[in-house]
Amino acid sequence: MLEQRINKVFGDTEPSGFGSGWWSGVLSTLFGILAFGAVLCLHFPQVLTSPELRPYYPVDLMRKLIQVVIVAAIVLGVVSAMLRRKKVLPLTGMAFALGATLLGGASVQINEPLHNGPAIGLDWFLLDLLLMTMIFSPIEVLWPAYPTQSVFRKEWVTDIGYFLSTHLPIQVTTLLIMLPATKLTALLGVPSVVQAVGHLPWLVQLLLAITVADLAEYAIHRLFHTVPWLWKFHAIHHSSPALDWIVGSRSHLVDDVVVRAFILIPMMMVFSHDINVAYLLFVTLHATWTHCNFGPTLKWLEPYLILPRYHHWHHTSQKEAIDKNFAIHFPWIDRLFGTHYLPADGSWPHTYGLHREHMPQGFLRQFVYPFQRKKAKKA
Ligand SMILES: [Zn+2]
Ligand SMILES: [Zn+2]
Repeated sequence: MLEQRINKVFGDTEPSGFGSGWWSGVLSTLFGILAFGAVLCLHFPQVLTSPELRPYYPVDLMRKLIQVVIVAAIVLGVVSAMLRRKKVLPLTGMAFALGATLLGGASVQINEPLHNGPAIGLDWFLLDLLLMTMIFSPIEVLWPAYPTQSVFRKEWVTDIGYFLSTHLPIQVTTLLIMLPATKLTALLGVPSVVQAVGHLPWLVQLLLAITVADLAEYAIHRLFHTVPWLWKFHAIHHSSPALDWIVGSRSHLVDDVVVRAFILIPMMMVFSHDINVAYLLFVTLHATWTHCNFGPTLKWLEPYLILPRYHHWHHTSQKEAIDKNFAIHFPWIDRLFGTHYLPADGSWPHTYGLHREHMPQGFLRQFVYPFQRKKAKKA
């Protein structure tokens, strides 16, 4: 398996704490790959960057960011090579950084006029990977709920595959999500509702948007748990034996598109474009955070906002919490519908994954799993 091969080539038996050269090596490799990918985007912007995102890029700032990432990959590579016996990680990081520099680095000019057309969202993948790693990995390393869980835990390569699969075809997924929502809104939407809601204070609108989205999410999420053939798609999201920020992106394409489209329909009927974009930003950060291996819990906030411990109970394989905690933002929605489960003693689940159900391993096998005729055995 790919994961075992990667672990064998890059891993070793030395300690991996701070000062051991492990983290500098990992970051050197990450930054090296990011820099190389970013320079490729500058060389082939028409095919490797999303037309929807291009207008929003502050190009000068992006070029500076590429420079910083190249330098960081080299400096961290040197540090790791000095501290650690096995040099594969730092050498990989430095090789990618060197490759990026030889290809022209941050100063590659974009000469061709760019137009709309089919493209792969490599820019979106690299940017989001950098952002999410910088936000969530430090808090998982510093304050984990499960201190013995490694960042490179079992099946991490599968989840990188999912992260790629949700980011590269951004044009296709956006179209699949937007098309039914735009059509239905055009057919059923009442413009005066959007106008009336638009007069409310911005924060009230956002809170309302989160409520509407979470109610819609609750309904469709519960349906995915209840209807057997839908469950086969959603079972993939529940199949990871451990949780961290990247597990949040483990979702079958059908699950991902149907859920997002279902939520977007009421959102587009009630709220303005700006509010919907603000909600999209909020849900990306909040939903990713609730999957984090992050221990600290604010007791006073738990009844009002979903914190990681709450969503972790949704992912447990322990019988007492199966088919509980469907909401993703507000716990009161689960209370209202009788599906709330959160032990008052502050405890976390012992086990995660599927309850009495076998899921094949790897991205491709999981992709075809829901289409196979074998009956889903759900307890
Ligand atoms: Zn679920
Ligand atoms: Zn989840």
